[in-house]
Amino acid sequence: MKTSTRGIRSSSSDRRREVILRGIGVSQGIAIGPAHVVESAAVDVPEYRIPKSAVAKELDRFDHSAAKSREQLEKLADKAKDRHGAAGEELGYLLDAHIQMLGESRLIRGVRERIANDLVNAEAAVSSHVNQILRVFAAFDDPNFTSKGDEVREVGSRLIRNLTRTPYRAFSGIEDGAVIIAEEMSPSDTALLDPRRVAGFAAAMGGAEGHTAIMARALDLPAVLGIAGLAGRVQPGMTVIVDGIQGQVIVNPDGATIAEYRKKRANLLRQRRELARLRDLPAVTRDGLDITLLANIELPAEIAQALAAGAEGIGLLRSEFMFMNRAELPGEDEQYETLREIVESMGGKPVTFRTLDVGGDKLVGGLAQSAGGSANPALGLRAIRLSLSIQKLLEIQLAAMLRAAAHGPVRLLLPMITSAREVVEVRTVLARVFKRLKRQGVAIPDEPPPVGAMVETPAAALAADALARTCDFLSIGTNDLTMYTLAVDRGDERVAALYDPRHQAVLRLIQFTAAAGAREHVPVALCGEMAGDPANAGLLIGLGLTELSMAPGNLARVKKRIRGLEFGATRHLADTVMLQTDPDRVAEILAAFEGAS
Ligand code: PEP
Ligand code: MG
Repeated sequence: MKTSTRGIRSSSSDRRREVILRGIGVSQGIAIGPAHVVESAAVDVPEYRIPKSAVAKELDRFDHSAAKSREQLEKLADKAKDRHGAAGEELGYLLDAHIQMLGESRLIRGVRERIANDLVNAEAAVSSHVNQILRVFAAFDDPNFTSKGDEVREVGSRLIRNLTRTPYRAFSGIEDGAVIIAEEMSPSDTALLDPRRVAGFAAAMGGAEGHTAIMARALDLPAVLGIAGLAGRVQPGMTVIVDGIQGQVIVNPDGATIAEYRKKRANLLRQRRELARLRDLPAVTRDGLDITLLANIELPAEIAQALAAGAEGIGLLRSEFMFMNRAELPGEDEQYETLREIVESMGGKPVTFRTLDVGGDKLVGGLAQSAGGSANPALGLRAIRLSLSIQKLLEIQLAAMLRAAAHGPVRLLLPMITSAREVVEVRTVLARVFKRLKRQGVAIPDEPPPVGAMVETPAAALAADALARTCDFLSIGTNDLTMYTLAVDRGDERVAALYDPRHQAVLRLIQFTAAAGAREHVPVALCGEMAGDPANAGLLIGLGLTELSMAPGNLARVKKRIRGLEFGATRHLADTVMLQTDPDRVAEILAAFEGAS
């Protein structure tokens, strides 16, 4: 018998019964193996008052625990350097953020003040201060703050462990091929998992946006998070299946289920091997139209994957990662070093740097005050508006980008443009920064790099002709374009069913932009999530797009689709789709096209 449930406590009959637990699939793949249940290692927090005369000693005890925590993290960061590739890099960022929190930070200052003012022991001061920070972060209801909160909690628990001398639980004695089941997996716990020995993992806490999810994808470990009551349903040694595609965990699968999942897993591996063979083949339609396939990068850790998947360059580097998980803003040199490494690691392939796109649903610590506080954040001081309102911020970023452009081909992309005037204003700042750097003898290219605008507001799409005249290229961001056109918040699951990039209105804006670019002889790319779905490739090509940028994991599947298409047929498809008024009919036509070609 199969039971589907969410968060019910186990009974003894569950020990043999197949149970399906639903959560969020955050890293694709299928793991089958015996459960290794990680007990939740809660630390007891002693709480007591201290006399005024004991404050200095207590502060000393706290400073010692902070120094010890820093030492432990520095050792871990050293180890992370030995771990090659995406996971090592990702862990490095994370540990650096933790080390910074243990320096001259608000967290440390806050705890010290509590010890001195509230006359409480260090453990209690850490616990109450961390809880206060978490309450403030929770009020933002923003995934960036959620993951930042996870980090503060983790650093707090490290401090308390060191104060109470509670040892860390190592992932020792794990059977080869085991599936890790935990109440919560921190990103650094996850990075310690060896993908050659562990089959996958599932946890009760966590969502698709957190660092744990990013780490799971970087390690290519199947993972499902956010399963309420998970640990209570799984006993050590029980067989479990982690289905990272459908976002479910099957406990005690019966023989038929195991056979079905083994088949699914074998199919997946076969598909991946087949796709890997496409790496060096061109993305060209059967009748010879070349399509440029580029990668969207959120973290430098993804570059290796993009190159391995045959990306011809980076079509969108979201520069926000340099500003996240920190209180202060990165300076010009730091941004330059990071961007230079990215340009160099692309080995001569073009890199499109997008200037900072914060505000709206993306807030970063150092700019929370400037960008936050709007009643309609998506319509407020975000992206290019914020950069133009804090010109120093823009100047620093443009200077770093210009300097990185001395190391390889670079393009500059401006987010959330609504009029050509904004592009002109940025070009003025760019010219000024360019001149200053030249005068100072700093190594930059002879000419400023090409400048492009994101077409992600209906205003930009409808003014695409004017934009094309001020830009060297355009890039359509269908994620925001869909949101702003349909008035549907892209991050609100309650209206998710209304969010449809294939809606007539969105398609017309894409078509209009592509046509304006063609008239003005300005290349138009598309870098929204829509580009990464192979089922959209025919329609987008038929609408006149020849440059698509997407998450690295989607490149091979889209290339495969393009190689099966006829350009003539895609034109006909686009003509037919653009005549429709009923979204269901559009879906039917696209499905029929997929079936037929
Ligand atoms: C978009 O809006 O389509 C886009 C690519 O930008 P982001 O997803 O970063 O907002
Ligand atoms: Mg956008």
